[in-house]
This record gives sequence, C-alpha cells and structure tokens, in this order.
Amino acid sequence: MESGSKEAEVNNLEKQWSLDDFEIGKPLGKGKFGRVYLAREVKSKYVVALKVIFKEQIEKYRIHHQLRREMEIQTKLHHPNILRLYGWFHDSERIFLILEYAHGGELYGLLKKNGHLNEKQAATYIASLTQALAYCHGKCVIHRDIKPENLLLDHEGRLKIADFGWSVQSSSKRKTMCGTLDYLAPEMVENRDHDYAVDNWTLGVLCYEFLYGNPPFEAESQKDTFKRIVRVDLSFPLTPYVSAEAKNLISQLLMKDPSKRLSLQKIMQHPWIVKNADPKGMCSK
Ligand code: ATP
Ligand code: MG
Repeated sequence: MESGSKEAEVNNLEKQWSLDDFEIGKPLGKGKFGRVYLAREVKSKYVVALKVIFKEQIEKYRIHHQLRREMEIQTKLHHPNILRLYGWFHDSERIFLILEYAHGGELYGLLKKNGHLNEKQAATYIASLTQALAYCHGKCVIHRDIKPENLLLDHEGRLKIADFGWSVQSSSKRKTMCGTLDYLAPEMVENRDHDYAVDNWTLGVLCYEFLYGNPPFEAESQKDTFKRIVRVDLSFPLTPYVSAEAKNLISQLLMKDPSKRLSLQKIMQHPWIVKNADPKGMCSK
C-alpha cells in the first residue's frame, strides 16, 4: 500500500479504534500528562505516534476540558506544518491520541545540539510557522504555547506544530494566564486581554532563539523574566553574527503594542524571509 492510502486508513474519524489495532514500539517522549510511543496500525502498517494519558491524571489536574479542546481543535486542523491528530480512543484507565509521527523529534534537540541555527534554517522555520499560524488564525485558533519543545520535525526536517493543549478557539479577545513565561507576550504575562497577536510576538521570540540559542528575555528568576518582557528589554549580542535584516524582523515582532506587531502576511514579505527561507523546506502545498 502506498503511504497516502495507508494514511487514509488511519485517518478515519468514524472508526472505533482500540489498542488491539496497534503494535506498540519504543517510547518517543514524556510530557506533563502523557507518554508518547511509536506505534503501527496493524492492518495498514501505517506508523503513528500514540500519546497515552491516564484518566486519573486528567481528573487529578482537572484538565478534562483542556484535553477535549485540544483534541477537537487538532482534528480540525489540516496543514502540512501542523501535526495531524488522526483520532482517539480510550479504555478504562487511559486515553490514547493517534498522532502523526514526527521522525526528526523536537526542534529543541537540534537547537541544543548546534547551539543556534543558521539564517537559512531559522528563516525556513519562521516562514513555516508563519504559514501554519496564518492557517490557524484563519480558523479562529490561537495556539498560545509555541515553544521549541512543541515544534517537531518530520523525516525531511520540516516543521510540525504539536501540542494544542493551550490553544483556544476565539472570536473575541481572551483573558487567560497560561504557558511558559519566556515565550509569552507582555499582555499575557500582565494578564490583560489578548488576541491573535500573541502568536506574532512568540514568532519574534523564536526567531531570536533560533539565531542566538537562547530566548531574548531569559533571566535567573521568573520575576526577572516577567520584568524584562513587560519592559521589552531586548538586546542583540555581538556573537553569533546575525544580519541587520534578521534583527529588523525580530524588533518588528517584539513590539509591546500588539497592534504594531508585523502581521503574518508582512512577515512572509519581509526581506530577510524572502532572501533566506527555503520553499522546499517549508512544505507549503
Ligand atoms: P505539554 O507540552 O503540554 O506538557 P506533553 O509534553 O504532555 O504536553 P507532548 O508535547 O505532546 O505532550 O509530547 C511529549 C514529547 O513526546 C514531545 O516533546 C516529543 O519529544 C515527543 N512526541 C510527542 N508527539 C510526538 C510525535 N507525534 N512524534 C514524535 N515524537 C513525539
Ligand atoms: Mg510538550
């Protein structure tokens, strides 16, 4: 069977899946609530990632609504740079999410291994993320938890956004505190109203981290990170060498006023992206 039709067999939301439909392989990772395993659907032999979450944990941390939202949002999103959720099932103790397998693992691993990325790699990932976010925003979904651990790579090194645990479907402005501080926009850390522009801010943070190896507002304590974010205490170290165009893009995304941040459309037209992003690596349809 060819890969596309194998995928179609797994991509069947009507089907009542059970653990017997899968052969379980090696563990791929561990998160706050779940463990993720490599798995293969027995009939089609299609390789997936199976995320296992214990119902006890869901009850303990009262994340039932959050998980339901994550599943509902992620099944609806079909974009080459967004990790697919093919379906889910449960037994008496556990919930299983059938996910697209990201062979390349976390982008975080690549970043730590190399210290930082070159401008071509960084621009390609930022362009992929921008397109995926434009697609999400078009469906009224704000991700709000984009960070290197939640960015996975497929077998060809193309970026896949995973983990929609903190995302919201929004038609109005939202006010909720969530996520890791380093990647959060000032209006979120200050717990003010926020909208889609929080994801644009995060793109600025990521672009900086890709190029320099650390997020821009990193500090010893959460309190100090908080202060640096609300002040937009941004500085560019001299090494590694980063072009003026890249710094220009970062500065236009890390604007305190959300309405002044560069739009997703303008990011795609920014000279640094146009010059450096590799369309082959972006997996655009
Ligand atoms: P949160 O980030 O909200 O804490 P989580 O960490 O519990 O959620 P995930 O981020 O989905 O759950 O998964 C944990 C780890 O497992 C990931 O960081 C990644 O290393 C690995 N992983 C998850 N999904 C996949 C996948 N589809 N393919 C390959 N590896 C995966
Ligand atoms: Mg995670």
